Amino acid sequence: MKRTYVIGAGFGGLALAIRLQAAGVPVTLLEQRDKPGGRAYVYQDQGFTFDAGPTVITDPSAIEALFTLAGKQLSDYVDLMPVTPFYRLCWEDGRQLDYDNNQAQLEQQIATFNPQDVAGYRQFLAYSQDVFREGYLKLGTVPFLHFRDMLRAGPQLGRLQAWRSVYSMVAKFIHDDHLRQAFSFHSLLVGGNPFATSSIYTLIHALEREWGVWFPRGGTGALVDGMARLFRDLGGELLLNAEVSQLETEGNRISGVQLKDGRRFAAAAVASNADVVHTYDRLLSQHPAARKRAATLKRKRMSNSLFVLYFGLNHAHPQLAHHTVCFGPRYRELIDEIFNSSQLAEDFSLYLHAPCSSDPSLAPAGCGSFYVLAPVPHLGTAAIDWQQEGPRLRDRIFAYLEEHYMPGLRQQLVTHRMFTPFDFRDTLHAHQGSAFSLEPILTQSAWFRPHNRDADITNLYLVGAGTHPGAGVPGVIGSAKATAQLMVEDLTG
Ligand SMILES: Cc1cc2nc3c(=O)[nH]c(=O)nc-3n(C[C@H](O)[C@H](O)[C@H](O)COP(=O)(O)OP(=O)(O)OC[C@H]3O[C@@H](n4cnc5c(N)ncnc54)[C@H](O)[C@@H]3O)c2cc1C
Repeated sequence: MKRTYVIGAGFGGLALAIRLQAAGVPVTLLEQRDKPGGRAYVYQDQGFTFDAGPTVITDPSAIEALFTLAGKQLSDYVDLMPVTPFYRLCWEDGRQLDYDNNQAQLEQQIATFNPQDVAGYRQFLAYSQDVFREGYLKLGTVPFLHFRDMLRAGPQLGRLQAWRSVYSMVAKFIHDDHLRQAFSFHSLLVGGNPFATSSIYTLIHALEREWGVWFPRGGTGALVDGMARLFRDLGGELLLNAEVSQLETEGNRISGVQLKDGRRFAAAAVASNADVVHTYDRLLSQHPAARKRAATLKRKRMSNSLFVLYFGLNHAHPQLAHHTVCFGPRYRELIDEIFNSSQLAEDFSLYLHAPCSSDPSLAPAGCGSFYVLAPVPHLGTAAIDWQQEGPRLRDRIFAYLEEHYMPGLRQQLVTHRMFTPFDFRDTLHAHQGSAFSLEPILTQSAWFRPHNRDADITNLYLVGAGTHPGAGVPGVIGSAKATAQLMVEDLTG
């Protein structure tokens, strides 16, 4: 029997491979790197463990479901620990908000910014819960293959005023400037500009309130390893160092997969978890419909990129929360420059990851593993030479963190590494070095996003950030459910 191939072992590829294998479809998962995980790769250096990407793990029920459908228990593979506070939000004027699930404490803190915003926050939460039910629970794992699927969702999108931006919806309910930032930055976690992305993405707030924020013991890499182990326990085959160079076609069907090292496999079907532009432009360059699709995709808006700095210190900095958002001096203007300017801004807002506050085993005793990221323009927006700019930005960020959050940082530095938009492009094949694939604006969401099953090449499927519903760990795990449903119907029906 010909096997089914999933290209790429990111969270989306892993979740799809598990679902297919559990449904009796024999799967080989092909990953170009030496470890699974994709954006959730892990670096290890001198006793420090650095999760490369996702660290805020939400919707554990979607993860649990993968283990349950395979007849296993998540807890036998991974220990998910609750994180409190969800995030610490900090501003340069010294104000701070510890955001978590405790309504009374949250309201108390909101009142210190603006007492009137307590009622506004309640209204915002109710709105966000409404969107969460409609957008996430009902539509987050349903493939949008036909325009009629979009039309069916139309009335709800209209009722929820999905044409408004995240920020404008937050600002409708909440007046304090700090709080407007605190409740609108979330779309940045999936590559969405809060001033342009549909208010549907306010659902992230309700999702966090509903199920909390979690962290796997041993780091996000432990969750990746648990999922890879589950896939193998189900009989699936995971090939590492297996870069796909071409998908062979016969008419409008994929017939085989070619690897860069010369290996070839006959394929019953292929699902790509690789970047969508890479998939159509490079892997299917010989197919006319794919070339057309690639040309269309290249005209779409990609989400921003990130500059990520991983560093190990001989000091633990126990004053830090696990997740800190360090707002810089500008919000709207900075975000506008990240998404639209050809220059790198002088200032930045940062996300600081201090995982040892939940799991000290991620660094040698008394030490701390950290990463800090700054959203930056992708390479199509700003043609920055990151070979030059990377070290400069690193030095500016280290100096800033030392001044505001981590006294003595540069003296305590044991090791560090950078990941720039060039690395997103070159290591992950990400078009324009985007960190989150297509920008999640309304006209690039649901039916308008590349579909979970290709319309022309009948046994080609997509999974991951570039297809419906989109980026983020819950998003790509949801995409795997939508794609698996189609594949299982097509391959076993
Ligand atoms: C720094 C950072 C922090 C983030 N933080 C969070 C967070 O806290 N919470 C959250 O929910 N989300 C977060 N995200 C977003 C989230 O990580 C991603 O949206 C998600 O992990 C993407 O998963 P994916 O399945 O689309 O695949 P990816 O992780 O993009 O994996 C794709 C895989 O395909 C492989 N591949 C590519 N081309 C080929 C080829 N030709 N042959 C074989 N293999 C190939 C790649 O090597 C890679 O392993 C973050 C992202 C980044 C970059």
